Amino acid sequence: MSQLPRIAFIGLGNMGGPMAANLVRAGYAVQAFDLSETAIAAARQAGAEVAASALDAVRGAQVVISMLPASRHVEALYLGQGGAGEGVLNAIEKGALVIDCSTIAPASAQKVAQAAAAKDVAMIDAPVSGGVAGASAGTLTFIVGGDAEALERARPVLQAMGKNIFHMGAAGAGQVAKLCNNMALGVIMAVTGEAIALGVAHGLDAKTLSEMMAVSTSRSWATEVCNPWPGVLENAPASRGYSGGFGNDLMLKDMGLAVEAAMGVGSAIPLGELARNLYALNKQAGRGGLDFSSVVKLVAKG
Ligand code: NAD
Repeated sequence: MSQLPRIAFIGLGNMGGPMAANLVRAGYAVQAFDLSETAIAAARQAGAEVAASALDAVRGAQVVISMLPASRHVEALYLGQGGAGEGVLNAIEKGALVIDCSTIAPASAQKVAQAAAAKDVAMIDAPVSGGVAGASAGTLTFIVGGDAEALERARPVLQAMGKNIFHMGAAGAGQVAKLCNNMALGVIMAVTGEAIALGVAHGLDAKTLSEMMAVSTSRSWATEVCNPWPGVLENAPASRGYSGGFGNDLMLKDMGLAVEAAMGVGSAIPLGELARNLYALNKQAGRGGLDFSSVVKLVAKG
């Protein structure tokens, strides 16, 4: 008889789907829920039990994991629509642990953690880095905010889905750190695309240029793993019409959260604000649903 906690997993999209599948593979009983039929079918295929609603999913679970798009989805799930108090926090067992892996506003993470604490439910914010490939391979980095004690309870579950765990501080601190990472990533991707487009406009070969950059001082995830130029890396979203990967709209959300976070403490983030506008322009150009590396199309000729 397994001693592993029963897990509710809510939000089975590009990231949540493979994360839930890794928990099943590690031997956990997973009660999964998503609004999308496609996502539910994939979770069932991976061996999760499918619940009829989020409320049903959390009943009897000792650990609840959510992987939802944005703050409003997370607040609505736990607190109810408009904070009306009909959220799943009412159905989660006392003493259970909530792990929210979505990337949301630090203030939202704190608000939900406080409401959870009032119901004797521990909560950590644990946004991730590593993309869809990291979610599938079980090599995600978890960036955690919340009590050290709650993190220790979560650790074995996180280790079934990831490789690195960083404790950044109290509730919301994981989200702040995640926004710092993604703001830097957004800027690096945009400028890497500009550099390759400049080289190509001068007749250089994008692949040779990228290979040189990947072993030189501008080396980054954007040159090595998710190169924005089509055909440079076979497995990058750019080489399959910018499908899959990390959506432009999600990057735009994260850059907006970084701008809000900067305003909250009076920080200057000139490059972050500029890059946020590039992702907004990329959305206006009809590429909101494509991988964020499609931002290169704003500057690529032809
Ligand atoms: P996604 O849009 O593929 O998946 C989100 C899922 O949530 C969808 O299947 C949707 O149907 C479901 N959903 C929405 N509201 C729901 C509700 N009330 N109840 C149940 N299910 C609901 O998004 P994703 O790419 O998996 O990203 C999820 C989160 O992870 C986001 O916050 C994103 O910023 C973050 N993130 C994504 C990546 C990436 O590479 N995709 C990397 C790191 C972090």
